[in-house]
Amino acid sequence: MAKAGSPGCVFSALRDGPLVISRNELAFSVRDTTPVTAMHALVLPYRHAETYFDLSESELAAANDLLRHLRSDIEGADPSVKGFNIGANIGIVSGQTIFHCHIHLIPRREGDVPDPLGGVRAVIPEKTRY
Ligand SMILES: [Zn+2]
Repeated sequence: MAKAGSPGCVFSALRDGPLVISRNELAFSVRDTTPVTAMHALVLPYRHAETYFDLSESELAAANDLLRHLRSDIEGADPSVKGFNIGANIGIVSGQTIFHCHIHLIPRREGDVPDPLGGVRAVIPEKTRY
């Protein structure tokens, strides 16, 4: 069943909680409780899928739909947002700590870091310069 969660999973437990900011048939979004920047959001499938690559095509489409709506909502709420990073950690070696797929949507503003060059390439800090 598409809405099956996993008992004991902190992200499965979020889906009916007060942190939810939007939802559709197969996915939901929440504000990150330890945001990288203001309005940092997470998009998750209801189903307890471990990683991004475990999502079905329908779940990917549902997650993408939420990402697009969140983008509009965030830009509408905060005109200082001029860009975003989208990312998912897949596997322990990438830094994944909760094994229920979650896609980060991180709003970016001018000056939020001294030099944003490289963006998500900063996962390997010495590779941000190219
Ligand atoms: Zn879960």
